[in-house]
Amino acid sequence: MVKIHDEKAVLVDPGQGSGRHKDLKREMRKLGLEIRAQLTTHGHADHVRVAPKIEAPLFAHRFEFSIVESPLNREILTFGSKAPRGFLVSQFEGEVRVHGIFEWGDVLFGLRAIKLSGHSPGMTGFLDEENSVLYAGDSFFGERVLQSVGIPYLVEPELFENSIKQLQDYADEGLLLIPSHGKAVKGDEAGKLLEFNLHRLEEAETMILKLLKSPMGIDELAYRLSGYFDVSPTPQILALNLVPLRAFIAKLYNEEKIEAVMDRGLKWKLRGD
Ligand SMILES: [Zn+2]
Repeated sequence: MVKIHDEKAVLVDPGQGSGRHKDLKREMRKLGLEIRAQLTTHGHADHVRVAPKIEAPLFAHRFEFSIVESPLNREILTFGSKAPRGFLVSQFEGEVRVHGIFEWGDVLFGLRAIKLSGHSPGMTGFLDEENSVLYAGDSFFGERVLQSVGIPYLVEPELFENSIKQLQDYADEGLLLIPSHGKAVKGDEAGKLLEFNLHRLEEAETMILKLLKSPMGIDELAYRLSGYFDVSPTPQILALNLVPLRAFIAKLYNEEKIEAVMDRGLKWKLRGD
């Protein structure tokens, strides 16, 4: 997304793609706009990859700072450790320099940074009050994206859920919500899509509890859930799903609904069964 501020362009999530930086620069030149700054909603590789090729300072939330900067930290966040080559959709080796950090509530170039944590620790939405637009990054997903992976990628289910509820308030106020993966929505359409995201979370949790009537490891859980959500499992999709599943396991464990058991490996099961 491009926000025009003080007759200069501010890029939100410069993105990825081999010619993308050239396209962005060309488009801005055509409009006679200098690129003043780049803002990122979070540090995932697909949001920041071309940033170093654009001559404008990059700003990130302080929780995302080291994720943007370090290729290894990006892999840790999306895989859990160093990832096998080719396993993450947008893996790349390069470091990305962050020039400034912000806090939620700060206003940068006419955009207010909104806390939408859950998909990543410092996930931030950028609210353009002047134009009634909220650039929501990966705080919610389009239907097709969710159908292709089964469960939304997240690192903290309760934060993700709270963020969706906050987005519902913005949708009720009539704001246009723009996700990174999916089409922009407002009004009823936004309401329905956010409801679909929430429903996926609830369904995932219900299914996990159902499956954990018998002890199960997280790998098998990922496999069984992909069947439930009618996703064709690939090693990459299952590996990606392990992250949100581990987060669900932590939530259910902390709520004392499940316990850890040793049964030819670490497994989880419903408590007291
Ligand atoms: Zn992301």
